[in-house]
This record gives sequence, C-alpha cells and structure tokens, in this order.
Amino acid sequence: MPLTDPTFAANKNSNWYNREADAVLTEFGTMIDGLSAEEAARRLTNDGANELKEGKRTNPFHILFRQFKSILIWILIAASILSGVLGEVFDAIAILIIILLNTGIGFTEEFKAEKSIASLRKMSAPQAKVLRDGKIASIPATNIVIGDILVFEAGDLIAADGRVLKAVALKCNESALTGESIPAEKNPGVLPQEEIALGDRKNMVFMGTSVAAGSGHAVIVATAMNTELGSIALLLQEVDKEQKTPLQIKLDSFGRILVWATLGIVAFSFGLGLLRGMNILDLFMTSVSLAIAAVPEGLSVVVTIALALGVMRMARRHALVRKLPAVEILGSTSVICTDKTGTLTVGEMTVRVLHSAGSSFEVSGNGYSPDGEVKFEGKIPDAPRSESLRELAIVLLACNNAQLVQKEGIWNVIGDPTEGALLVAALKTGLTIEQIEKDMPRYFEIPFDSDRKRRTVIRKMLNGALKAFINGAPDVLLEKCTKVLATDGVREMTDVDRQEILAQNTMMAKQALRVLGSAYRDVDTVSTDLLSADNVEHDLVFVGLSGMYDPPRKEAKDAIAKCVAAGIRVVMITGDHPDTAIAIARELGIASSDDQSLTGIELDKKSDAELLQCIRKTSVYARVTAGNKLRIIRALKADHAVVAMTGDGVNDAPAIKDADIGIAMGTSGTEVTKQAADMIITDDNFSTIVAAVAEGRGIYDNIRKTLQYLLAGNTGELLLMTASVLIGLPVPLLPIHLLWINLVTDGPPALCLAGDSIDPEVMKNPPRNSSENIANGNFILTMIVTGFLTATVAFCVYWYMLQTGTVEAARTYAFTVLVFAELLRSFGARSTDKPVWQIPFFSNSKLFIVVCVSIALHVWSQHNTILGKFLKTTSVSFFDGFLLLAIGSIPFVILEIWKAVRQKSICTSKSVVSG
Ligand code: ADP
Ligand code: MG
Repeated sequence: MPLTDPTFAANKNSNWYNREADAVLTEFGTMIDGLSAEEAARRLTNDGANELKEGKRTNPFHILFRQFKSILIWILIAASILSGVLGEVFDAIAILIIILLNTGIGFTEEFKAEKSIASLRKMSAPQAKVLRDGKIASIPATNIVIGDILVFEAGDLIAADGRVLKAVALKCNESALTGESIPAEKNPGVLPQEEIALGDRKNMVFMGTSVAAGSGHAVIVATAMNTELGSIALLLQEVDKEQKTPLQIKLDSFGRILVWATLGIVAFSFGLGLLRGMNILDLFMTSVSLAIAAVPEGLSVVVTIALALGVMRMARRHALVRKLPAVEILGSTSVICTDKTGTLTVGEMTVRVLHSAGSSFEVSGNGYSPDGEVKFEGKIPDAPRSESLRELAIVLLACNNAQLVQKEGIWNVIGDPTEGALLVAALKTGLTIEQIEKDMPRYFEIPFDSDRKRRTVIRKMLNGALKAFINGAPDVLLEKCTKVLATDGVREMTDVDRQEILAQNTMMAKQALRVLGSAYRDVDTVSTDLLSADNVEHDLVFVGLSGMYDPPRKEAKDAIAKCVAAGIRVVMITGDHPDTAIAIARELGIASSDDQSLTGIELDKKSDAELLQCIRKTSVYARVTAGNKLRIIRALKADHAVVAMTGDGVNDAPAIKDADIGIAMGTSGTEVTKQAADMIITDDNFSTIVAAVAEGRGIYDNIRKTLQYLLAGNTGELLLMTASVLIGLPVPLLPIHLLWINLVTDGPPALCLAGDSIDPEVMKNPPRNSSENIANGNFILTMIVTGFLTATVAFCVYWYMLQTGTVEAARTYAFTVLVFAELLRSFGARSTDKPVWQIPFFSNSKLFIVVCVSIALHVWSQHNTILGKFLKTTSVSFFDGFLLLAIGSIPFVILEIWKAVRQKSICTSKSVVSG
C-alpha cells in the first residue's frame, strides 16, 4: 500500500491494539498465509526500505574535511603562500601540487576503507522471517513491508512494529524502548482501551526489541521511520559512533606529542639561526623543512587502511567483523572458548541407535548427508514388532519443529539439526507426519531453551484430552519422570530402571553419541495459562533414548593443532552430556586421555577461588547453562587471559558481550547474539575462528611494520637536517624534497606494507601480550638505528659533494641517495625479524612494482628539465645514479645482516635453554 494512499496515511497513527487481529489483517490486505512475493516487492518500491535514517552517514565531505585537520597541511599552505608572495612561483605551485596529491590520496584511501567497512556492516545486518505465499522466508530486515506477517521465536529481533496474531509463551525484551528490563508478556487478545502506554500494549511488538522467550506471528503495521523506534530515533542519533581502535587512539595522542616536539625543535633551530644572523626567509624555509621531516603524515590513515584491508580479507574467509577494535584484540587472543555442536562437529546428525523398554535398535542408513540430502533407504528391521519403539517414534515426531522438504528431488531438513535427525529416525519406523498431525493436532508448545534442555509440545488427542510430548537431555528429563514405559506397558519407575537408563545413556555417550531422551504425560487442564513448564513437565512417563552421531569436523582437528602451536588454549563449552563432550574432545585433541570434564552443576558448587584454581586445567565444560558460561569467561579474564567466546542461543548474549571477543554463529546463531557479537562466523566452523585469529595477528604485524617504516624514515630525515643545521651547513633538503620523499618514497610503499600478505608463520609464536605497546624497546631501537644509518649515508654524500661542487648538486645527490635508501629499505621492512631472503619475494608484487616505478620516476625527474626545476635538482649522470643506488643500499644491507645475526643468536640461546 503506497504511502501516498490517503486511507493509509490517515491510519498511520491508528491504535492497532484495540482492534481484532482479523480486522488489522483485512486493513492491510493480508491473508493469514502472508503477502505474495509480487505484492511485497510492490510495497517495498512504494514505501521504501525498512531502515532508520542514520544521523551521520559516511559522508565524503566529512572525510575530505578530516584531511585538513592536520597541522602540517596548514604549515604547507602557509609556506606555499609565502613562497608565492616572495616571487618563488615554482615553489608555491610545487608545494600546492604536493598538498593536493597528498590530500587526494589520503581522501581516496580513507573513503575506500570506510566504504568497505560500511558494506561489511550491511553483510552482518539482521535477517527476519516472514510468511510469503504461505511459506516462511528469511529476508533482510530492511525488506519487510507493511502487511507482512512476521514470524519469530526466542532470540529473534523484531524488525518492525506489528500486531500480534499468534503467541506461544511469548515474551519480548523491550528495554531499548521502554527502559523496562523484565521481558513483557505478549498475546493476541484485543485491548479495548483508547490510550495505552507503550509498555502495556501486550498485543503489539516493536522494532528494536527482541524475543526473550516463546514464539509468535505478527502482522506488520509500521516500518522504518513510522515505527515507535523511528519516532524516537532522531533523539538517539548515536547509532553510528566512530569506532576507533585502542591503537588508533594511542596513535592520535602520539601524533599530538610529535607535533609539539616538532614545534620545539623548530623554535630551537630558529633561535639558533637568528643568533647566527641568518636571513629570516631562509630560516623560515628551514623551519618548514624541519617540520615536514619530523611529522610523519598519515599514521592514523595507515592503521585505518590496514584494518580495512584485513577486515575485507577476513570477510572472504567467512569471518565478518562487526566492531573494528575486535581485529586488534583478535591478534592477542590466548583462549578460545567454543561450542561443540555445529562448530567443532559437522552439525549434521544421524540417529544410530534407538533404545526403549530395555532393547536397543540399530538404525541403518544415513540421516542426511552433508549436502543436506536425506536418504530413506535406512531401516529398523525390528520396528514392526516393538510397540515401545512405536511409542518412542510418536514422541519424536510429536515434539518436533523440523521439517523435511523436497527441493529438486532432494530431501532437505529445515530447522534444528537435532530435531531433523530425530524426525528422520522416526520416519524410518514407518510412521508419517501426516498421520500424527491428523490424529493429534498441535495445541501448545513450551519452547526449547538451552538452560532447560528440553522441549514440550502439547497435542489434542482424538478423544479431546491433551497429551504432552517431551524431548530433552536424558539426565535432566529423568529427574522429571516417575513412570516408565516397559514391554508390558506403563509402570512406576524403580531405582533399578533409573540406573539402567542412566547406564545406557552413559554407554551411548561414551561412543561420542549425542543422546536425547523422550517422555510423555497426559495433561488434565486445557487452560493455556496453566500450561507452563512447571505445571506440565513433571510425573512424566519415560519412553526411550535416541543416540545420534555428529562427526567432528576434519578441519577442526588441524585448527586445534594450530592453536596449540600458537600458544592458544581451546576450551570446549557445551550443553551436551559430559561423556559425549569428552569423547569428541579427545578425538579432536582438546583433551588428553586422562583429562576430565567439569559440568555446570559441579561448577555451581565451586567458589570463585576454587574455580580460578582449576580454570587453567579444565578444557571441557559440559551441561552448562548460559550463567555458567558467563562465570567461565569471568574466571578466565581474572586469570589474565584474552578470551574469545562463541555462542548461538539468546542466553549466550551476556557471555558474548563480556568476552574480549564475542563470536556469534552465522547460521545457527540467533539475531540477538549476532547483534551482541564483535564478529560473526558465517559458516559456523571452528577453523574459521582460528583463521580470523591468524588474520588478526597478521594485521597487527602489518600495522607495526608500516609504522616502523614511516617513523624510521622520518627519524633519518630529522637527524640529517638537525645535524647539518647544528654544524652550520646549508640545509641539505628543501621542503619540496622532503615532500617528494614523503609522497613518492614513503607513501606508496607504506600502503603496500599495510596490505602485505600475512606471514604463514604467524601462528608459530605465542600470542602477543595485550598490554604490550606497539613501540616496544625493539621497535624504538630499530627505528633509531635505521634513521641513523640513512642519515649517515646521506650526510656523507652531502658533505663530499659540498667539498667538490655547488650546494644544488650536493642537495640533489643527498636527496637522491635518501630516496633510493628509503625505497630499498621497504623490502626489508616487510618483516621485523626475518631477513629479506627469508620472505617470499613475490608475495607482495605490488611493493616491487611501486618501488621500480618510484625509482624510474626519480631518475626521470633528473633528466626532465621541468620536473628538475620544480624539484630544484641538477642532473645526475647515469653512472652517478648507479653509484648512488649502490650507496643507498648500504643501510638496507646492514639492517638485513643485523636481523640475520639477531635471529641466529635467538636460535642459539633458545637451543641452549632447551638443551
Ligand atoms: P549443545 O548443542 O552444545 O549440546 P544446547 O544448549 O544447544 O547445547 O543443548 C543442550 C542440551 O539440550 C543438548 O545436549 C540436548 O540434550 C538438549 N537438546 C538440544 N536440542 C534439543 C531439541 N531441539 N529438543 C530437545 N532437546 C534438545
Ligand atoms: Mg545446540
């Protein structure tokens, strides 16, 4: 319905809560099975996307404006104007061109980086389920239109405002809107009052809230800015705050210190010059030169670019970064806490054994193969003869939300893989879903929740009575059972029965099978208000066990070995049975043969101090609740670990928020956990987490080496300049020379270094200490030594030339040797500890090209009169050029030899220690 439609516009602020649900449906021309795809598409074009207008978008002008924030730019502009006024037109133009080029490059790079991060944000935007053409479709939340029927369950985000049509134990967390932290109950009943406060509109759901428990359907009545959230969105405005990483913040303050230090040096040399009676104009130009030499441009830009490139690379490997600071922390991760089911295992389950009334039944054939295909040729030979097995199969089918659909001739499971496996197994006994739906229609549901570890579905039997069917963790379920289904019918459960069932459960769990128990109970009330978990789930009749196999992922084993080599501990945290968990953990190498697991109940009994004592030794936690997860995280953090934590359920959001790196599962994860996470793993695969950690380390390395390269270059320039000024020699480098160096020799190679390929050996060292400063002792030492070497080489050339020729020639030679030295050094800058011959040369072919082009450009500038005029250089003969190239390589060669010697001494000291 178009927004321009007068009836609709009038209805925009209608009180949907005091109308019958059917009336609302009719109002929007929606059938109970949703809109058609065409109608939805039409409405989307008419009404626009369902998104809030952001206060501040990535605005190109904003980025351009940022380029002029640097003091240096203003010094240069002043220098250019002054040169112009004094008649040095060439100087003025040259400086101006350089300024333009510099801002141009800075702008395009930053713009590209911002755009790629914005596109990533889109990739991790929330999804929503709606009914279209009678089927549930998962669509981007921005494509929701008015009249859509939204389908949701615990953990989903409500992506627009809607009138509730159906609700099963539905509770929504509306704190974002109302400030109320206790979830609000929702049901479809009409609220007859005229005016009702937002928090009391029990038959409405609102954009920006989430489903805390239960499930339901709602018809959408408002989208985008017309929603309740939209009407206050303009007040919120802080939607997209600029996210600076800890490193960027440190660099910013470092930059400010540099500016002040530079001003100090400049003031000092200015004073010295005045005392010596130097010309004011010369002094001014010298000061500008010094300032340019000292202030490294674009440190922060380099970090942004390195992060953006890294984040894009991670996205291609299925890791979506939602919060930029996460990238930096990833590199220092020391413990990864991970789910078992679906992350360490394939998550595609096949029931192998069914057990009821004391006998086990082998289930042959596949459940469904990894490509999602369900194969039905599997059989249970004894099925027809066992009445108890039939009863078990009925519970499996009756309490099941998974669906089997045939797509292009292949059967696929939609829904929870655990339930899919149960469904397929039950069908193999010869029962059908249609039969169940006909004989016992669904009446009510108490949804699955990983703290309760069970699901109940209540159905209406042919005689009108209600019956509850429950599947859940056997140990938990057994506590609620008082009767058992035996070969001769239902009888009271004895202790012996209980022991037998538990023993059977343990036996299956030890074979790495995931075991679920099944039970039922006749229910005597029909009032849905009384059908709560407490009222229904007791005095159950135990029916049987299903054991399913979920093979460990092959990649996971390698990934875990990688973690061990990288000094990262892997901790399995699962809701599954301890024996299943330990069996899988041993197969994967997380636990050794004598390692034990710790269960949630054991954890609850421990004090914080006791937990801290065993936190380093325990690698498998089983039967945990969300609360347990939070405690584990806190204990690990108290033990100074940098913790990455995965999660999928609604209840996991607090633990995910609390972890240093919260990781949500892209496929199985709920929207609420995804929104709380720092990173989303789109393929749910453990090895992706490890790959992301490796990327995080690599990105940090890239940032560090780029900073080192730039800072060492500036140190060299500054040393050369101050030494000459102090001695009283003419300034060796003019502003234009320094600008040329910063632009031609430092800029492009620095960008190549920031995007360098990642050293395959990053995962061979222990994690970096998260409190470590990027500029540690080693960093500063290398920076000073490098600066000293280049300054010395350039100074020698300058000095020699001053003795034999003009100042112009001396400057040209010093300038050229510095350019060559910087360019050659960039090859060595690729690693802070490996000599250049140990780095695969062509793994960064861009750098090679950039260096060749820069050298060629520089040589050309010496033979092109116009450029020569701009750069104020004399021509250099080819022979001298080669000579300068050779001299320029001296710092590079010395530095690489130094690295090799250092590496060797580290190796020998290591072998002395280990020997
Ligand atoms: P995990 O998937 O790591 O085992 P969960 O918290 O998801 O952890 O599940 C906890 C336990 O609840 C499972 O071990 C299983 O016994 C039970 N369970 C899981 N899924 C279902 C389901 N769909 N219906 C009934 N019980 C379930
Ligand atoms: Mg699970």
